Amino acid sequence: MPEDSVKVAVRVRPFNQREKDRKAVLIIQMNGQQTTIKNPDTPKDEPKKFAFDYSYWSHDGFSEDANGILQETNSKYSSQRKVFNDLGQGVLDNAFQGYNCSLFAYGQTGSGKSYSMVGYGANKGIVPMTCDELFKTMTKGADSNKRYEVTFSMLEIYNEQVRDLLSKDNPKGGLQVRQNPKLGLFYVVNLKKVPVGSYKEIEQRMDQGTANRTVASTNMNATSSRAHTVVTITFDQIIKKPDGGETKKSSVMNLVDLAGSERAESTGATGDRLKEGANINKSLSALGNVISALAEKSTSKKKILVPYRDSILTKLLQNALGGNSKTVMIAALSPADINYDETLSTLRYADRAKKIKNEAVINENPID
Ligand code: ADP
Ligand code: MG
Repeated sequence: MPEDSVKVAVRVRPFNQREKDRKAVLIIQMNGQQTTIKNPDTPKDEPKKFAFDYSYWSHDGFSEDANGILQETNSKYSSQRKVFNDLGQGVLDNAFQGYNCSLFAYGQTGSGKSYSMVGYGANKGIVPMTCDELFKTMTKGADSNKRYEVTFSMLEIYNEQVRDLLSKDNPKGGLQVRQNPKLGLFYVVNLKKVPVGSYKEIEQRMDQGTANRTVASTNMNATSSRAHTVVTITFDQIIKKPDGGETKKSSVMNLVDLAGSERAESTGATGDRLKEGANINKSLSALGNVISALAEKSTSKKKILVPYRDSILTKLLQNALGGNSKTVMIAALSPADINYDETLSTLRYADRAKKIKNEAVINENPID
């Protein structure tokens, strides 16, 4: 069985206003695939070094063009286009071959997860660019022996409950998550899965879903969602064979914008928000435990139980982590000394994720 490591990228954003106001000091450096972080309390110490599949410098070396798109003024800078060309294009190529793909963004609130995944305004992120390119590639490769079917769904996990972001009336307590007895995979019961025929339709559905998200403000970032958002695109290619039969290649793409990885205390959360923080940590710490177990599994001969069942998030990401999927993780970093602890913990998390081995197979079956 061919094994594939999870590909890990890190990306560092510009200083935000809060960091500028507090005269923050840059503690991240990148060189090739290497990322280093300096401990602001011990500036004489050697910086800690990490190596990733991709290290994206988006801290400086750019300016806004006439369309409001951030473009490089220095070759070190990684634009949305550059990140898409590496990561999004890879997802697309794999999807066309019939592999399941997963892309998820990890990092503390305000570190740039949504910027990389979805983007803001003219600076579209990997998800919309990948969807746009998906339909362009389908049109380019149009062939009378091939038919395509694309569906879109979008959910959020908030307080360990699943809400359908394409639905107006979600049941109290959230949608149920069940295990398929044959495949062993978990799925969300009654989640809306809408057929889409163009990029425009996906864009409209994304906007609809985004508007339905639960947004609760914290001190860290007033607009950031405290929930995990999962966009799932299924992409089927129905191919006519010369003997008259048909086969179907299927790809499931999971695109996950995780909630902030910071502990509840550090965001100044109180009351309800604190309970929420505790639950977010439940899902994220379960994710951390799954990643650790998988990392250990890849380097040890012992039988290791992977605790997928410990949270909704890890149930739904089971295939993405250690299963039938080509997976990419993007870890978003703050450049500032004031976020040192969180950023170091993100780098360690990302470092562990590199060790995960998946076993992706092409999903192709005859249609009878
Ligand atoms: P998160 O989703 O991790 O909470 P966001 O993606 O919303 O964080 O980013 C926080 C802020 O930083 C936003 O205003 C966003 O526009 C900005 N930002 C993040 N990454 C970049 C980047 N690579 N280039 C420019 N601005 C960025
Ligand atoms: Mg966000």
